Amino acid sequence: MQLKVKSDTYIQKLLQEMGICSQEVLVFIDGKISPETAIAKKGQEASIIYFKHGAPQSGSALHKQRKYEECECGGIPVYFAPHLGRHFCKKHFLEYFEKKARLEIRQKNLIRKNEKIALGLSGGKDSFSMLHFLSHLKEALPFQFFAITIDEGVKGYREHTINRAKKFCKKLKVKHYIYTFGKEEGVTLDSLAKEGKANCSVCAVLRRRLLNSKARKLGASKLIIAHNLDDTAQTVLLNVVRNEPLRFARMEEPLVQSKSLIQRIKPFATLSEKEVATYAYLYGYDYGEGACCCPYVQHAIRRFIRHQLNLMEEAYPSTKLRIAASGHTIQDAIRKTIPKEKLHINSCEICGEPSSGEICKACSFLPKR
Ligand SMILES: [Zn+2]
Ligand SMILES: [Zn+2]
Repeated sequence: MQLKVKSDTYIQKLLQEMGICSQEVLVFIDGKISPETAIAKKGQEASIIYFKHGAPQSGSALHKQRKYEECECGGIPVYFAPHLGRHFCKKHFLEYFEKKARLEIRQKNLIRKNEKIALGLSGGKDSFSMLHFLSHLKEALPFQFFAITIDEGVKGYREHTINRAKKFCKKLKVKHYIYTFGKEEGVTLDSLAKEGKANCSVCAVLRRRLLNSKARKLGASKLIIAHNLDDTAQTVLLNVVRNEPLRFARMEEPLVQSKSLIQRIKPFATLSEKEVATYAYLYGYDYGEGACCCPYVQHAIRRFIRHQLNLMEEAYPSTKLRIAASGHTIQDAIRKTIPKEKLHINSCEICGEPSSGEICKACSFLPKR
């Protein structure tokens, strides 16, 4: 969205007047990325970019006007952290970001020395950021990683993001494997759509199984997922809204450990989506190119919750962190109530992959072959 600024005004006020939540957009004034606390001057070009799924419905919250300040070093800020009340210049934002991700890795012992790890690379901003972060981390911590991209088979949408993923890996010299639903599963999302069966849960179940089996066969001990704090907070609220206590129980880790089930780790778990989006931008991610969303995307409730959470975060900073922490508390409490005899894992009778029942979810979705 492009507009000419009519009179000097705070960016946050400008966004508010348009019903836009600052936690969902990157703002550029005369081409320079600017925090929402900055003032846009009369006659300047403002460009507002939603970094996900296009514009949501508008809403209102108790927006507090924050004071525009320099970074502590005196540099021009590119990001304002509402939960810290602090502005960061490019250099200090990148430092802050990577420090936070490294802390998460250290505290939870996510990556060990010399470990071989797989990264699920979709080609979107989150996994793009993860790819860059891991390349930097490798300079300090000796470990190996490679990227896996799953091509779900969505014509006119996926080719572009997959080419982008290829380009990223080539540039950063990261080994890259691409697997297609068509070849591995005998279906594509497009072919499922013709039967009226293309939806996010089928896609997620198939992708999850394929990522798990490929990561394991390629010798990875863990699978990195580029989920951020917003993803976790949204999932917690979704589990509440849908009243699904069992989903809480296995929110962060599966109920049963199994060698065939690769551990999924999330180094960006404490970083917000806006922080990840800013990091991606600063490393050259182009928000302008290509289609933004999958044509089969549904997740209507998730989108609604996402927007409400962003409004809450703006009015009450740290809301997302607290909701994610509540989720972990609930997870631990519910796990204790599950009887031991229920805690076992099977191998799917059809594909041999780990499954809670006799036949895994992916196999039960797919037509018999
Ligand atoms: Zn600075
Ligand atoms: Zn199966």
